[in-house]
Amino acid sequence: MSKKLLLKNDHIPGIHTLETYRAHGGYTALQKALTMSPEAIVEEVKKSGLRGRGGAGFPTGMKWGFLAKPEGVPRYLVCNADESEPGTFKDRYLMERIPHLLVEGMILSSYALGARTSYIYIRGEYFYILRILERAIEEAYSAGLLGENILGSGFSHDLYVHPGAGAYICGEETALLESLEGKRGNPRIKPPFPAVAGLYGCPTVVNNVETIAAVVPILEMGGEEYAAIGVGKSTGTKLISASGHINKPGVYEIEMGLPVEEFIYSDEWCGGIRNGKEMKAVVAGGSSVPILPKHLILKTAAGAPRLMSYESLADGGFATGTMLGSGGFIVMDEDTSIVKNLWNFTRFYHHESCGQCSPCREGTGWMERILKKILDGKGSLADIELLWDIQSKIDGRTICPLGDAASWPVASAIRHFRGEFEEYVRNPVGIRDVRHYFRLNQLEQINVHS
Ligand code: SF4
Repeated sequence: MSKKLLLKNDHIPGIHTLETYRAHGGYTALQKALTMSPEAIVEEVKKSGLRGRGGAGFPTGMKWGFLAKPEGVPRYLVCNADESEPGTFKDRYLMERIPHLLVEGMILSSYALGARTSYIYIRGEYFYILRILERAIEEAYSAGLLGENILGSGFSHDLYVHPGAGAYICGEETALLESLEGKRGNPRIKPPFPAVAGLYGCPTVVNNVETIAAVVPILEMGGEEYAAIGVGKSTGTKLISASGHINKPGVYEIEMGLPVEEFIYSDEWCGGIRNGKEMKAVVAGGSSVPILPKHLILKTAAGAPRLMSYESLADGGFATGTMLGSGGFIVMDEDTSIVKNLWNFTRFYHHESCGQCSPCREGTGWMERILKKILDGKGSLADIELLWDIQSKIDGRTICPLGDAASWPVASAIRHFRGEFEEYVRNPVGIRDVRHYFRLNQLEQINVHS
């Protein structure tokens, strides 16, 4: 059995209430933290090796260490709960089931950072979870865990939940801060980074829900013990949102370093591919990361077993590897049309582009239209080259990572599944993947033969 740190109590009835959460050890990490100096807490987080669980995987302790501390200027902690990456739903589960874990993590992280006020910016579509969090926050205020002089420590703190309005781009930290300030959620040009000039121009740390929740067990067990779990620089546990053509979709907490093959096929986890089919491909870290075919997701190009870790999944760079990302693990069986799936991802990025940079604003639309043309049986081999060219001119040339996120799936799909694109071009009516082609077109009321 894999060790559980975040979801160890998620099965307990009533764990969303303060009473039950406390009965199972809740808020003891906060009590411990309030006896420590803020610097000592930052040190424990550094020792733990915790890396940002939102997707980038940046070391959390280092990020906290970058926070500017000018005299007389407020500092803020902002929790990024704008979970919108397609295939990712772990933060939703955590907030829904154990809201006090996040509230406790927010209070003790704010203490470590010297933040008097903190915010949870939550995805607008999660409005019902906003109510769950607000109830948990009310309970915490009533118990003296929030507000003035928390547990007699002299530390005072206020925590607010703020809903977004349904824009994916507000998951980008500077767009989130703009939105929190009441403006249109456009990403900012960096530098300055939020650690220097974030919310209202003040030093700010923005961390993902799972990252902040993980600070609670780190304080309970100590940074070194946490770092002993996992493999290499991928320490601790990770929540994985498993979806697609598997027998047991859901949210799983794994120890970093679990072999991908075990995660997919073991009954403890995904339980294998649905209906006895073959696996075709996996998107391992949410829609933004490169897709890998079966042989490369199970083993690296050098033949080593691929592990659920930042390093192993990235082994081989983008030529043969991918990224752990947000842990949105989407499994596709042999019947899946990679081209159709890519078109669906691409139209999402086109729709969600904020429009500030032309490579992203125009390029995502061009890619969507070319993919649709290929799907409709009207594409040419030159269109595949054009698609490759467009994605290469978006990657790395935009203000925020949405541009990269739109280009990497296109590049990897062409890199690993070019034959499928060519088949759509060469054989538009005889159709290589009949079931998916017709399902798509029935859905859209399009006559593919006309
Ligand atoms: Fe907006 Fe796209 Fe530029 Fe990001 S990359 S700032 S989403 S246009």
